[in-house]
Amino acid sequence: MNMPSHVLSYVRGLERFPAYVYDLPGLRSHAEAVCSALKSPQAADGPELYYAAKANPDAPLLRVLAPFVDGVEVSSGGELVHVRQVLPDARLAFGGPGKTDEELRLALDLGVHRLHVESPHELRRLASLDRPAEILLRANLPVATSGAALSMSGPFGMDEDALETCAELLTGHPRLRLRGVHAHLASGLDAPAMLGLASRILGWAVPWLRDVCGITDPEVNLGGGMGVDYTAPDRLFDWKDYAAGLAALAPPGVRLRIEPGRAVTAYHGWYVTDVLDVKTTHGHTYVVLRGGTHHLRTPVTKGHDQPFVPLPSGGAQEPTQRATLVGQLCTPKDVFARDVPVPSLQPGDVVAFAMAGAYAWNISHHDFLMHPKPEFHYLDH
Ligand SMILES: *Cc1c(COP(=O)(O)O)cnc(C)c1O
Repeated sequence: MNMPSHVLSYVRGLERFPAYVYDLPGLRSHAEAVCSALKSPQAADGPELYYAAKANPDAPLLRVLAPFVDGVEVSSGGELVHVRQVLPDARLAFGGPGKTDEELRLALDLGVHRLHVESPHELRRLASLDRPAEILLRANLPVATSGAALSMSGPFGMDEDALETCAELLTGHPRLRLRGVHAHLASGLDAPAMLGLASRILGWAVPWLRDVCGITDPEVNLGGGMGVDYTAPDRLFDWKDYAAGLAALAPPGVRLRIEPGRAVTAYHGWYVTDVLDVKTTHGHTYVVLRGGTHHLRTPVTKGHDQPFVPLPSGGAQEPTQRATLVGQLCTPKDVFARDVPVPSLQPGDVVAFAMAGAYAWNISHHDFLMHPKPEFHYLDH
């Protein structure tokens, strides 16, 4: 695990911990690479790229991403208002289960580009507002997603019966226009698995949209879920292969869209903190760090060891022992990394957790135990 030199020199100058440090130049070049893979000549008319704001809706990150994305996917009224304010001109897609009438009205007031409808009841409530909207129906298809970190079955989207009901409601509706299907079915998949999934989604959705719904130029949003491997921070999702595969799969005249979150922002956030104590209990060494998983919940939710870079003041980084890195919370669940190789660490030494740019601060239970909040640094130059 390496830390880019510009981040390292910044982190060495930090005086207060814990701190979130966002590497905006790194994020910019990553977004540029993803964008150019998707829009490369080999990918023909590549998919539109929307960023799923729930991965990390931080304003400075949204501003960095804006030039490289075609839009932003939001999943609540809160995200909708926030993203509209930060990026007034961005195209927005609004999805998520349990949208309230207020949220539906807000979506129309703020001019969302696409509304992802999750149920017939939601569609009826939308229809009763009697205002124009461009719609994708969210499908919950019975396609296998083995190997996925998360499978999005359950309450998300609709089975074929509910989709039929919606299609009938939309037929001839004066103000609601059915544009296509949205299918975010799994997350944590590599490019070949994502392509397998895309092929099954398209195999069902395109004939349904064309032959049953009579849409000549259908749209299919294939969702997000592009894999991020926390055990191999250097092994990125293969955007080039994915784009080339999609180009081969896409039937002519079908507009594809994807909406990744984690694979866009995970790599460029760091949670940097310092060692408060080192102790050995019943033969097991614990490094107690300032802060905890109430700031960086990711290792707890994913059940992994968060990758990290130890920055001991002595400089020697070679592992000399095994230890468990914990925070300040009074719960045995407050573990960043369990029984991992570490160099000799002393109180005051710094440890920087990597891959803390997505589903990190914003999914954490900040107020538990009332410790001070981290500082936020947006590195840009
Ligand atoms: C969470 C979510 C995404 C983004 O998923 P990632 O795993 O972060 O890529 C995209 N679309 C929908 C509907 C989601 O709920």
